[in-house]
Formats: sequence, C-alpha cells, structure tokens
Amino acid sequence: SGTVHWLFGDQLGPHFVDPARGGPRRDAPLLMIEARSVFRRRTFHRAKAHLVLSAMRHRAAELGDRVRYVKADTYRQGLREAVGEAPVTVHHPTSHAARAFVSALPSVRVLPARGFLVTHDEFKLWADGHGTGHLRHEDFYRWVRQTHDLLMEGDRPAGGRWNLDHENRRPPPRGATELAVPAPYRAKEDDIDAEVRNDLDRWARDGDVEFVGEDAPRTFPATRREALAALRRFVGHRLATFGAYEDAVLTGDPTMSHSLLSSSLNLGLLDPAECAERAEAAWRAGDVPLNSAEGFVRQIAGWREYVWHVYWYFGTEYRASNALRHHEPLPEWFTELSPDATDANCLAHVLRQVRTTGWTHHIPRLMILGSFALQRGWDPHAVTDWFHRSFVDGYDWVMVPNVVGMSQYADGGRMTTKPYTSAGAYIDRMSDFCGPCRFKPSVRVGEDACPFTAGYWNLLHRHRDRFERNGRMSQAVRGLDRLADLDELLEQERRR
Ligand code: FAD
Repeated sequence: SGTVHWLFGDQLGPHFVDPARGGPRRDAPLLMIEARSVFRRRTFHRAKAHLVLSAMRHRAAELGDRVRYVKADTYRQGLREAVGEAPVTVHHPTSHAARAFVSALPSVRVLPARGFLVTHDEFKLWADGHGTGHLRHEDFYRWVRQTHDLLMEGDRPAGGRWNLDHENRRPPPRGATELAVPAPYRAKEDDIDAEVRNDLDRWARDGDVEFVGEDAPRTFPATRREALAALRRFVGHRLATFGAYEDAVLTGDPTMSHSLLSSSLNLGLLDPAECAERAEAAWRAGDVPLNSAEGFVRQIAGWREYVWHVYWYFGTEYRASNALRHHEPLPEWFTELSPDATDANCLAHVLRQVRTTGWTHHIPRLMILGSFALQRGWDPHAVTDWFHRSFVDGYDWVMVPNVVGMSQYADGGRMTTKPYTSAGAYIDRMSDFCGPCRFKPSVRVGEDACPFTAGYWNLLHRHRDRFERNGRMSQAVRGLDRLADLDELLEQERRR
C-alpha cells in the first residue's frame, strides 16, 4: 500500500523500520518532520538541539529517496503539507503529549512501541500483580532477567546472586585524578553538522529560539554507525571497570567508566537488547567481571525499562505529583548554568560540566544536582523541566520518573523506597570534590558549613513526620535528636 510511515526524531535506528517486528512494509515511503515549535517550547541546551537535528538529518541522508524530510513549524503543519489526509502509520511515540496528538488524528494508525525490551501489556500484567500503587525496581529487574533470559543459569541468576550492588559502590581509587581506563568513543563532525550549526546560529540570531549551555563540537553519536562504534568501544575497553566505580566521581575524569550511550539509546540509534546482550557475551567470554556486566545490564534492562514503563503506567497526572509540597522556584544562576555563582565545589564543577557538555553521569545528577534541588525545596516540575532542557539525553518519558520519582521523591515513594539525598559525607567519600572546597562536609553550622550537610538535616526536619514512617529513613530521622545545634542550623537555613 502507499501508506506513509512517519519517524519521530527519536526513532532513528533500523528497529523502527523493520517489517519483521511490526514495522512498516519494506517499500513504505517514510516521512520525517523537523518541527521548529519543539525548539521554541523549551530553552534547550545547545548541544542537545544540535545532536537531535544532526541525528535526524543524518538519518534522512541515509534513507535517501525513500524519505520525505519536511521542515515545518509544527508537526500538524508538516503532516498536512506532506500527506494531507492520507493514511499514515507511526510507532508509539515517547511522550504523553505526542501520543495524544497522534491518537487524535483519524488518518494515523499507531504501531507498537519499539526500542524497549518489555511491552506495555507485559508491564501492566507485572505491575497489576504488584498492586499496591508502589512498585519496586528490584522486583521488576529480576522479572526482566528471567523473562528475557539475561545473565541467567537456568532459572538462577548467573553467579548465584541477583544483586551485586555492594561490589559496585567503590569510592574512586585513593589519590587518583582519573580512572585508568581508555577514553570513550567520540564522534567527529561532518558537513551535516556544519549546516546544523549554521541553522541554530541563525535561529538564535533571529531571536526565534533560545539556548542554554555552550556550543562545542558534537561528540555524541548521531548515526547508527557511530553509535555501534561507541557500543563496541565501551564493551571492549571500558565495561570491565564499570561496575566497581559506577558511583565514583572525580574532578579530572568526568566520564569515569560510564558508557555514554544514553543519548544513542534515546534517539533510537541503539536497541537496548543488543547492548545488554553484548555485555553478557563479554562476561561469558571472560573479558569482564560479573559485577560489571550485571551492573550495566541492571541499568539498561532494569532502570531504563522501569522508568519507561512507570511513565506510562502512572499516567499523565504523575508528572504533577508533589508529595513534599515543594514550591520554591529555581534560582536563575542554576537555570542559566552559571557555576561561578556557588562556592560549593561539587555543585560548581558539575554545573560547569553540564554547561559545557550537556551530560554528567548518574551520581552527579542524583546526588549533587537533584539532591541540592530536593534539599532546597525546589518545585519538582521546574526541576524536571530544567533536567529535560539541559541534558543531551533528556526526553519527557525519562525525565519525569527520574526527577519527579527518583530524584525529588515528589511521588511519595511510588517507584523508589526512599529519597535519594545525603549529607556532604557521602559526596566526600565518593569524590575528590571536598578537599579543595571552602566548606567542610562534617560542619553543619557556621561559615564552613557544607550546604549539603546543613541542607540534609534541614530536609529531614521539615519532613520528619513522613520520613519517620519510612523504614529506610527512620534511623536517619532519629539522628535529628542528637543534634545539639539543630535550632541554629534551622535558623541558618531559613536565612539562606
Ligand atoms: P551508564 O551509567 O553507562 O548506564 C548505561 C545506560 O543505562 C544509560 O545509557 C541509560 O540508557 C540507562 N540508564 C541507567 N539509569 C537510568 C535511569 N535512571 N533512567 C533511564 N535510563 C537509565 N537518563 C537518560 O537517558 N535521560 C535523562 O534525561 C536522564 N535524566 C536523569 C535525571 C536524573 C535526576 C537522574 C538521577 C538520572 C537521569 N537519567 C537520565 C539516568 C542516568 O543518569 C543516565 O541515563 C546516565 O547517567 C547516562 O549516562 P551513560 O549513558 O554513561 O550511563
């Protein structure tokens, strides 16, 4: 048939045009729409805008005559211009807004989602079976390992244990300024990138679109070929040390042993199944230890899938959750990514990294940026929006659960067991930030008080009633009773 198949900008890999997996017919004409309104709605990081446009245009160049590439103001206009009322298919989009948009168009038929291991129906069956309204990642993860036969020996987990987390929480090697691990893959720009840069410069000059962050040569993959090279390099050279140092942070080594594959996965350039399978194969070949293979499979087949499904399962209202009733606006220095505005060395360093690259690894996101926002009582929706705009891998589906749920505890624990936040001692243990910092992680009150330490106790105090009832928090809350200077601390935080 002549039915046109529409590819969103995060549906760029071969698994989005595979007739054997419920995709369009091999001869179906393809459509891509570059909608300027997407960039007007939010002030994106320059690197993010560049990466998405570059990836879309690279894909269009690869597909050649088979694709019609429309530059339009909105998706609606692009569709009207390209196909009028003719029938269109599209794989399930990745946001509630886009899903509602395509579902409301009579000429568009929505095909199943691609780019995830677990289907919506399978997740629903699993989650309904855990029907308390509170889901747990660890249960989900074990179920995925079993149902997708990942790192299994018969019906037992490889190595006898499901969870090797306690081997994966090592602080950085003592005295090291960087991990002894080969550098990650870095893409090189081409003519398409030069065009993208010109366009973005022009849009910004015309005052049509605004960006945050710095423009820099693109290093994240924009094509399937680049993404595969990045995956190969990671599994072949960097996966072995992933597990042990997963949570460690070093000033001189922003990437540590992380994969940097999130943007490629989220653009649809890589399929999670191939990533998990290659990590498992490296372990079976004896090339990487089990804690690294397991740690990586846990991120890809566990957390990434869990977050995707939580987004759909909890529905459109989930994003508005605000269990802790946090309403403070984000300060401008934070939204503008101005690291010089804070004396906290860790926060300044991480903000600078976001400003220059649009990426940091998980622990700076969770235990520095997110934890700071939580302790200051910032509005979780504004925090979600900030993350969405500022990171190269940010999309609605992945930001909402990670920020509203995991990082800001705004859902009151529907997807995690406790708030992820800490005093400065955790940052001191897991990084080299505190030595040169003018604040002292052990100090709560006064000139030298670490904002994370003071902020931690202040948060526990503010939400004492709620946290006391949480088995994983109650002991920490009781620590408040031992603080002789609590009143002084609260007064200091009120003035901050
Ligand atoms: P690695 O450490 O190498 O992990 C491997 C892969 O696992 C990642 O590429 C990613 O695809 C997946 N993964 C791991 N954890 C998660 C998770 N919690 N949610 C989804 N996927 C996960 N990830 C995004 O892809 N986009 C986001 O916008 C995003 N926002 C985040 C915001 C906050 C506040 C927090 C705490 C986490 C966020 N994450 C997000 C998850 C995670 O921090 C990033 O996926 C990871 O740091 C990307 O770097 P990497 O590819 O080197 O990951």
